[in-house]
Amino acid sequence: MIIDGHSHMFTKSMFGKLPPNIPERFKKMQEHTVEDNTKAWISAMDRLGIEKTVFMSTSRLNKDFIEFIGSSDRLVGFAKMNPTASDAIKVLKEEIEAGMKGVKLYASEGEFDVGSKDAYPFYKHCEENQIPITIHFGVTIGFSSDLRTGNPLLISKALKDFPELKFTIAHFGAGFFREVLMLRYKQPNLSVDTSGTNNWLAHQDSNLTLKDVFRKSIEVFTTEGLIYGSDTTIFPDGYRDHILKQQTDILKELDLSKADQEKIMYGNAKRIFGI
Ligand SMILES: [Zn+2]
Repeated sequence: MIIDGHSHMFTKSMFGKLPPNIPERFKKMQEHTVEDNTKAWISAMDRLGIEKTVFMSTSRLNKDFIEFIGSSDRLVGFAKMNPTASDAIKVLKEEIEAGMKGVKLYASEGEFDVGSKDAYPFYKHCEENQIPITIHFGVTIGFSSDLRTGNPLLISKALKDFPELKFTIAHFGAGFFREVLMLRYKQPNLSVDTSGTNNWLAHQDSNLTLKDVFRKSIEVFTTEGLIYGSDTTIFPDGYRDHILKQQTDILKELDLSKADQEKIMYGNAKRIFGI
């Protein structure tokens, strides 16, 4: 079985804030109802042997997103949060009440500093209530990214101050691969997700391939510290089968045992996210 630990679902109601010059693909993403999304997702998951998918919300307490997550226990939701906001814990409680199982922080959007002491009460609450946090650092959110707040080193101190809180960095750090590897030094509460095209590789000063990235991550994080993800938005192009294939092929080429492959594709998400 497979768990996809990082994907997205969009309806029109989630696109309120986007600028008019967004790519055509993004416009097409929003032309479907919650019901269309549920049907398309469950059918893709059945076809590919995916037991559960984790969806990273892109807006706060969104009615469509909550309805989507509530439509099947195979669809798991993470709430988009600003951990430094004065009402962050209150909003998170409402999100959890509405069915969310974790938190997504878009550090690269420039709205907050994930290392700020203002975020500490929020982290404390997440630690005490075993609510996992996935963070997007680095490039790849294109039109809204601000790399000044997108450096994973910003979380370095909080990682140590909340040793029981489970942090996952999306897309291997999306360009900050070296920083992510360093962060893992004696920090077992940190993992990475493998999601997306990993097109950040084109902006590195080395010629790393995705296979090199997997190999090095496994060396540093062990096979317990990687979570498979595809970063699919089911409309307009369907599930990203090519990413699933690319990543399962890499795991085979790296000569991992079946048990280790299974951890990355399934078991780690189940354990780390508690789903
Ligand atoms: Zn994503």
